[in-house]
Amino acid sequence: MRTPSGVECQFFYGNYFRGRNTEECRLIGNAPPPNHWKSDLCKTCPVPGIMRANACPTLVLEARVSSGLLGRFRRVNVSAYCTRSKQKVDKPEIGCGLCHSLPAFLKDDKE
Ligand code: SF4
Repeated sequence: MRTPSGVECQFFYGNYFRGRNTEECRLIGNAPPPNHWKSDLCKTCPVPGIMRANACPTLVLEARVSSGLLGRFRRVNVSAYCTRSKQKVDKPEIGCGLCHSLPAFLKDDKE
């Protein structure tokens, strides 16, 4: 569904039928304040970009809202996990590299 900021996101749900006006993010869910979801977060959320770049079905995203000083500069932080390689994915746009091997310039220097 399209978010209020105009980007397609599979986790956004809005119900505007017959005067209703309910919106929710089904990835962040109902976190208590001050880390609660509001639709203005969709403007800067990295999730739609990640999903466009990597449609791997074994990639599981987790998102939470963080805020800076005095509750300002709220933003969505995303972490990713691969259920196939059973490891944390540092760059979810790229993936863990098990299903689709990574080119050398995208691999860490540790290897
Ligand atoms: S906050 Fe991010 S994940 Fe949630 S609905 Fe908006 S764009 Fe989608």
